Amino acid sequence: MNAGKPAIEIVMLPPLARHDAQGRHYTSAALLRQTVADCAMGARTTSRRSSMKERYAQCSCGDLSVICRGEPALVSLCHCRECQRRTGSTYGIAAFFPRPQLEISGEATAYRRQSDSGFDVALHFCPRCGSTVFWEAARKPGMIAVAVGAFADPEFPAPDKQVYTQHRHPWGAAPSEPSS
Ligand SMILES: [Zn+2]
Ligand SMILES: [Zn+2]
Repeated sequence: MNAGKPAIEIVMLPPLARHDAQGRHYTSAALLRQTVADCAMGARTTSRRSSMKERYAQCSCGDLSVICRGEPALVSLCHCRECQRRTGSTYGIAAFFPRPQLEISGEATAYRRQSDSGFDVALHFCPRCGSTVFWEAARKPGMIAVAVGAFADPEFPAPDKQVYTQHRHPWGAAPSEPSS
């Protein structure tokens, strides 16, 4: 019975314009295709891989870190209650990368739970400082979600979509539309 369960509301934001290192212009959909192409090329040639953009995410104390190569396939802002409790903030933001694009360093402890949609999620946090740095969602096999806050980088791509907006705090700390 799904009757008693709140429906998942997924709000697709308009595609965001992005530029790569050569100044080419991408929409989110084009970026996703490009990321897949980059990933396939990176597996074959080391020179292509070395030219991919690298970003660095880490926990509060720095013991647990992730190097992320290339652009995220999807950036999703989640207003669900679990993300609120996990972050201690009013929403969480996940940047999904294909697993081969990530290099994880340091010790992580996993906390497993079910998402509101019923799929398993394994959250990996630093056992020293407690920051959750990345997680695996059974709903997205082959992908790792990295906490966007762990990059502490204001240049990080903005969310492509927002989910669980029924739990959004109404005073609007998260943008309801992408900024221009
Ligand atoms: Zn730490
Ligand atoms: Zn959530």
